[in-house]
Amino acid sequence: MRVLLVEDDRMIAESLRTALRAEGHAVDWVRDVAAAQGTLASEQFDLVLLDLGLPGGDGLQVLRTLRARRDDTPVIVLTARDGTGDRVAGLDAGADDYLVKPFEYEELTARMRAVLRRRGGHAAPVLQVGTVTLDPATRQVTRDGAPVLLSAREFAVLEALMQRPGALLSRAQLEDKLYGWGDAVESNAVSVYVHQLRRKLGADFIGTMRGVGYYVGRPGGGAT
Ligand code: CA
Repeated sequence: MRVLLVEDDRMIAESLRTALRAEGHAVDWVRDVAAAQGTLASEQFDLVLLDLGLPGGDGLQVLRTLRARRDDTPVIVLTARDGTGDRVAGLDAGADDYLVKPFEYEELTARMRAVLRRRGGHAAPVLQVGTVTLDPATRQVTRDGAPVLLSAREFAVLEALMQRPGALLSRAQLEDKLYGWGDAVESNAVSVYVHQLRRKLGADFIGTMRGVGYYVGRPGGGAT
């Protein structure tokens, strides 16, 4: 998935970015209110991790601006403030969840998965399409009940497709979930990952609509 990280603490930001990238996510990092506002006005993210104490203002401004233009991108607020008032203000401003620093990385990723599940309208944590299952929490994939080993980026491509069975995702949309700014995008990378996934999950598991994109399940139909 593509994540925007709004955080002025370099140590926290770099460790989060490294950990999220290792799981195959695209992470873009901005450090102040103006950069966050500008980025969110021009680009689409699957999730925003938002610090509140930022140079140039309060992260809550970023959140209020986002919600004021009816952008419902999921937002998890990260902050050192632990007063009840701040928590309430964050949630009232439209945050999906709230995490007080310091936190464990595992807790953050569990909350990210929970927010995306609620947003996706699927309560079941494990995604299933046909005989293939994908568990975002354990990062396990099975085919006909047998475990399938995937690289982090193969997993990221498969997860993006399985979150929306039947939906067509273009190569550019999939690249967006794999690469942040400044990452070198290998040409043809998406085709290579799709090829690997077909080899591991069955040639027909991922469909192609030529010139439009890739899908799992029935195109326009949902899970099969
Ligand atoms: Ca801060």
